[in-house]
Amino acid sequence: MDEADVANDRAEQFIAEALKAARLKKDEAPSTGVCRSCEELIEVERLQANPAARLCAGCAVEAEAARKRAHRVGG
Ligand SMILES: [Zn+2]
Repeated sequence: MDEADVANDRAEQFIAEALKAARLKKDEAPSTGVCRSCEELIEVERLQANPAARLCAGCAVEAEAARKRAHRVGG
C-alpha cells in the first residue's frame, strides 16, 4: 500500500466519523466531505476543526472574502 492509499483510507475513515459526530449535533447538517463549490475533497484538518464544513479551504477563503465585501461595516 502506498502513501496515497493510506492517506485516502484515513480521510475516508475520518469523514465517516465526522458524519457520525455531525449527526449527533442535530442543529448542524453534516458535511459530505466534498466541497460544495469546487467538488474537491475537503481537507481532513478542516473537517477535524469543523465536521460540518461545506467548503474546502480555498473556497472558504473566497467565500469569506465575498462575505466581507458584501458586508462592509462602517464604510
Ligand atoms: Zn472548494
